[in-house]
Amino acid sequence: MSCGYDFNVPPFVGTEIKYIKDAIGKRKICGDGEYTKKCNAWLENKTGVAKALLTTSCTHATEMAAMLCDIQPGDEVIMPSYTFVSTADAFVLRGAKAVFVDIRPDTMNMDEKLIENAITKKTKAIVPVHYAGVSCEMDTIMEIAKRHHLYVVEDAAQGIMSTYKGKALGSIGDFGCYSFHETKNYSMGEGGALLIRDEKYIENAEIIREKGTNRSKFFRGQIDKYTWVEAGSSYLPSELNAAYLYAQLEMADEINENRMACWNRYYECLKPLADEGKIDLPVIPEECQHNAHMFYIKAKDLEERTQLLSFVKSKNIGCVFHYIPLHTAPAGQKYGRFAGEDRYTTRESERLARLPMYYELTTDDVEEICDVIKEFYR
Ligand SMILES: *Cc1c(COP(=O)(O)O)cnc(C)c1O
Repeated sequence: MSCGYDFNVPPFVGTEIKYIKDAIGKRKICGDGEYTKKCNAWLENKTGVAKALLTTSCTHATEMAAMLCDIQPGDEVIMPSYTFVSTADAFVLRGAKAVFVDIRPDTMNMDEKLIENAITKKTKAIVPVHYAGVSCEMDTIMEIAKRHHLYVVEDAAQGIMSTYKGKALGSIGDFGCYSFHETKNYSMGEGGALLIRDEKYIENAEIIREKGTNRSKFFRGQIDKYTWVEAGSSYLPSELNAAYLYAQLEMADEINENRMACWNRYYECLKPLADEGKIDLPVIPEECQHNAHMFYIKAKDLEERTQLLSFVKSKNIGCVFHYIPLHTAPAGQKYGRFAGEDRYTTRESERLARLPMYYELTTDDVEEICDVIKEFYR
């Protein structure tokens, strides 16, 4: 049997073109126009934060968060090593050291029980990454942060539409960062958003995002001219991108249901293999509602995964592994250190294989893909 499935297909619902044309027709294509505002309002409504600001990427949203936390050279920031480079980059750019802690093998998230041992006098923030849109143990993390007076910046790049005890991921820590890259559940090509829980940071965030000026205040008519008030950058996405995204946010529930149906079908189809002890399946803790960002399986070890990936590829199915742990990368060694023992980060990352997952994938497609996995294990 030979079928063909890409690993990822960027989401497209159909109304994007109409909205992009509309933005062009209004002769307003730079940042912070009508579509950007609609996206911000949608995100605020969905997550309950004081302010959501669309940005040019999740990486940039995290850079903004690092500035709002006033990260200084020599500060330490605690994060998992099993994550995308942006989690560390945003803080390292401000001169901070990335302090990596081990992950839990069940969710692949930072092990909350190891955080406290990694805290030093220099620690300024904790950065939980909600892998696969499944929440970290946020009550524990928030409690540790409170006791040690640390910021919490959620890397919720994969976590839009997911919740922890009913709360939207990205809305629990001081700041939350979303990604709308084409590989994420909702997309604008390249883009992201910064979520701000406490309104006291809004003004500074707007200044950083608008090249260090108070232009946002000016546009609201609160001041009669705008000026350079702080160091900042340019983190506003174009209206064309925002228009593309808004079309999908309007269809967010439908996209989510489609992905969940595929995720659940993967789980059902592969459960027998897991029951036989041949593979491991993702674990979703009870207090977490996830968003089907990703479906992965875990092979026995690196060798078996390599064979699995090449078998699946030979059937034209896009199946990929994920992060090479940051502490093993050249920049990770330069800018970071691993606190404690690497019991699971390397071992579990070497076992993990991600299966195709995108809007418009059908449950029939999923069954076909699962047949290939089953064939490999026979
Ligand atoms: C995708 C991703 C990012 C980066 O998002 P961009 O929008 O491409 O900057 C950061 N962290 C994690 C965990 C991601 O999955």
